[in-house]
Amino acid sequence: MVAAMRSNVRISAPLVRAAVQHAQRRTFSNTRCVRAQWGFIGLGQMGYNMAKNLQAKLPPSDTLRIYDINTESVNQFASEAKASSGGAAVQVASNVHEAAEDSETTITVLPEPSHVKNVFAQILKPPLSTDAVANPDRLFIDCSTIDPASSKEVANAVHATQQGRFVDAPMSGGVVGAKAGTLTFMVGASESLVPRLEPILLMMGKKMLHCGAHGAGLSGKLANNYLLAINNIATAEAMNLGIRWGLDPKVLGNLINISTGKCWPSEVNNPVKGVVDGSPASRDYSGGFGISLMKKDLKLALLAASEAGARLELGDKAREVYEAAEQKEDCKGRDFSVVYRYLGGKE
Ligand code: NAD
Repeated sequence: MVAAMRSNVRISAPLVRAAVQHAQRRTFSNTRCVRAQWGFIGLGQMGYNMAKNLQAKLPPSDTLRIYDINTESVNQFASEAKASSGGAAVQVASNVHEAAEDSETTITVLPEPSHVKNVFAQILKPPLSTDAVANPDRLFIDCSTIDPASSKEVANAVHATQQGRFVDAPMSGGVVGAKAGTLTFMVGASESLVPRLEPILLMMGKKMLHCGAHGAGLSGKLANNYLLAINNIATAEAMNLGIRWGLDPKVLGNLINISTGKCWPSEVNNPVKGVVDGSPASRDYSGGFGISLMKKDLKLALLAASEAGARLELGDKAREVYEAAEQKEDCKGRDFSVVYRYLGGKE
């Protein structure tokens, strides 16, 4: 049973007044109709903040139906929405099927491929009702970072059962970007869906890159994160090396950042304390991009690379480094730049 969290929430059961709702819903070819229902599944570090931005930017006539297996975060979201003014009404769904039922657009932000497959198996069976939303209009936007093959499997299940359209839209920008609404989305979808996707994603982010057909967003994201994984280790090694040769960390950081070694880990997320103000290294590697997430993305990139027959010389070694670092008590659970500490860098 869906729980209503705002006085302006429509609390009727999904099938009641479905015909009326259908007529009143906003259609994407006719913006004069005002009501729309949205589903949001996965209110973790990223999803919670993304859903907050979405909710705040949607009109009060819209409804956002939320679900997470973590009831604490669902309840917190619902009570924050209740206390705030403006934005879409919020309903708490009791399962993922209910979150997607009647929603024109459902956004998923889940940890790993197994979670995405599992959630979609539950969404699609029993088949979603077509009383409120016609299946061709249903859109599923998966923002989870998973491998393209798993994403394809889920897309095939959605499309084969004709229950909507499924696109991949992984993001970059971290928790800070999710909170600030400045994420970049990398989208894999047919060209025809881009005009519909863009305004939705730009309620949670600043940029949307259409990378190609389904799966292309994930391929782009994994290629980027593969490079990031390697750059991060190489930056930590180079900083450690220079400092041991006697260079001042700030001088070395500045030198790299006006030279050819410059990269995001050297310039923004430098692993040495004091080189970049506000970096995770300056706060004992807390916050930032967790080492386990880097390890996960690297594993997915290696899997996708082997499926594509792409030769990667450094991938396995990098994976070993992250696995070993994560085993260390003083590195575990910290920002991935903690690799510098793992290497024995001076702090
Ligand atoms: P998270 O673990 O904080 O959140 C995932 C949420 O999914 C949790 O709240 C969990 O309870 C929920 N969940 C798990 N199984 C579920 C189910 N069956 N039904 C409903 N909810 C379920 O993860 P996160 O940091 O928010 O990351 C989400 C995705 O975004 C990951 O794929 C991650 O790689 C990617 N990503 C994360 C970051 C980051 O900095 N954290 C940056 C870019 C991309």
